[in-house]
Amino acid sequence: MNPVCQECETQVNTVPTIIEYQGEEIFLFDPVVCEPCLHKLCERYSTQCANCGGCIPPYSQVGVLKGNEGRTQVVHMTTSCTTVGSAFYGYWGKGQLRNFIQIEACS
Ligand SMILES: [Zn+2]
Ligand SMILES: [Zn+2]
Repeated sequence: MNPVCQECETQVNTVPTIIEYQGEEIFLFDPVVCEPCLHKLCERYSTQCANCGGCIPPYSQVGVLKGNEGRTQVVHMTTSCTTVGSAFYGYWGKGQLRNFIQIEACS
């Protein structure tokens, strides 16, 4: 049996779901979401990279920077967007960080 889309419950034939959104290729293994729903999620929940200003789609791995006044900023974890000494990384979910992890700083 095929997996079903978590958003609209139609059957999804291929996992991961692959779409291109604002020049970013998105491979989504988990959760299972169909292509039209993934587009909608990207439009609704994308955030902006604090480093290059590009779009960070939901369900992607991000670096996390501690901004001013306790605000966190997220940046790409890709080689094309090299981050400035990020000490944290996480996983951008539906408009918020998931699995926020601190990398041990080596002294
Ligand atoms: Zn769907
Ligand atoms: Zn970036």
